[in-house]
Amino acid sequence: MDGPKVLVINAGSSSIKFAIYLIPADSLLIKGHIDRLGSEQCTFKVDRFYAGPTGIGEVVEQQPFHLKDVKHAIPFILDYLLKEGILKSLDEIVAVGHRVVHGADKYNSAALINAEVKQNIRHLSKYAPLHNPHNLVGIERCEKLLKGVHQVAVFDTAFHQSMPNWTYLYGIDPDFYAEHGIRKYGFHGTSHKYCSLKATEFLGFMPKRMITCHLGNGSSITAIKNGLSVDTSMGFTPTDGLIMGTRSGAIDPEVILYLLRELKQKPEKIDQFLNKESGLKSIAGSGDVRDIWNNARHGDQQSALALDMLSYEIARYIGGYAATLNGLDCLVFTAGIGENAWYVRAAVCANLSFLGLQIDEDKNQRNHHDITGPDSIVKVFVIPANEELQIAREAAQPWKDNQ
Ligand code: ADP
Repeated sequence: MDGPKVLVINAGSSSIKFAIYLIPADSLLIKGHIDRLGSEQCTFKVDRFYAGPTGIGEVVEQQPFHLKDVKHAIPFILDYLLKEGILKSLDEIVAVGHRVVHGADKYNSAALINAEVKQNIRHLSKYAPLHNPHNLVGIERCEKLLKGVHQVAVFDTAFHQSMPNWTYLYGIDPDFYAEHGIRKYGFHGTSHKYCSLKATEFLGFMPKRMITCHLGNGSSITAIKNGLSVDTSMGFTPTDGLIMGTRSGAIDPEVILYLLRELKQKPEKIDQFLNKESGLKSIAGSGDVRDIWNNARHGDQQSALALDMLSYEIARYIGGYAATLNGLDCLVFTAGIGENAWYVRAAVCANLSFLGLQIDEDKNQRNHHDITGPDSIVKVFVIPANEELQIAREAAQPWKDNQ
């Protein structure tokens, strides 16, 4: 437990997640999250991974209480860490890694925060109005409470900055990119990067052609060539790409014009419709694949349809990205659906035999980390998402470089 530590902060509009890692060993000591910030019903949940007074791996959930926002949540978390003895003093924190959603084309890696970085994050709020402003509040609060500590921004978009221009440009006048920044950026970059590194670790070498599928509430698929992202399914915003829990994914842009023109809908209504009321939820009545699977097994046709749509789209992206990569050596599934929904993986992989890909049905049903079939020429892994660890590693780096 003793030694320098890195704090990871993922601050959102109504929730905040945090974790403490011991460096240089990367060991996770504690992680937790506070939900429903701003209400009287805030919940606080932690998982301990150290032998504390009340044990290892214990989940502590506190009674509902009130915390106004991220600004108030940060000192609450630091007090908790001190009170519980996870930190002897705040001086033990040598670096803070902040998840920042949008770095646009300004950052292709993590950035040590200074006034210019903060100004950029503020400026890029126009692309991620629900995220960047809250990320910034977290940064400024930590700067104040943890003076002199390395604050590092780890951007969701950074890993995808290696995409070539024929991938990231849309088929519209390039001036829209030059003047307004309209292009594909991609998201979940930290998760795709973590999975690609973990798969490399499993294999003992970096595969030339890899596809990583992050399938959670939000989902995206990335084509990775020699360790670099060359295409990804999310675009200018995270609404693009696959059908998701409550997001539509890619639809013909003319549908939006139709909603505006014929149904006289306001942009805010369309935003709500596309991001909160669409996707699997609109087809099956629930955006949660656990419910959908249960209902489909009990004969609900709409739930079966939703699963078919999801599996079809995932396979379609993988097939397309196999063409991007001119073949495939390694396929990775991660996040809530990718790690647990074996029936989705099975349905997806059934359509990929043309790539020489085959899975071991038994291992797949057990969510084994390596589900590659005996005759498969493509390796297939199930890797638990761990963006926090990737953020911790990248946040610790400047401190390590200084030692
Ligand atoms: P987020 O994108 O919010 O980080 P997660 O990666 O935790 O989300 O994924 C959440 C989704 O994963 C849930 O909505 C659900 O659809 C799916 N999921 C979680 N656990 C399971 C499970 N055991 N079986 C099938 N699907 C699951």
